Amino acid sequence: MECARCGTCCVAPDISTLGKRVGERCRHLNERFECSMYEDRPAVCRGYRPDAICREISAPTLDERVATYLKIFEIER
Ligand code: SF4
Ligand code: SF4
Repeated sequence: MECARCGTCCVAPDISTLGKRVGERCRHLNERFECSMYEDRPAVCRGYRPDAICREISAPTLDERVATYLKIFEIER
């Protein structure tokens, strides 16, 4: 499936190589939910592929999408 650029995977999970904590918005995610360092993004971001979860977390707000993502993966804030 195609990425809907909902921003959730750049907010919900922790990304240790970026020093990003769970639920924290990546500092490289711009207002249009685009990666501002796309060409130089870390391997973990390069390896991420949209899948069925993207559809499952679909919701009007980023907060809602992040909450659902964390619930699905049983990640504690
Ligand atoms: S959660 Fe899925 S749809 Fe949303 S930005 Fe990430 S890959 Fe794209
Ligand atoms: S570096 Fe880019 S792709 Fe990776 S989490 Fe941050 S905004 Fe998303």
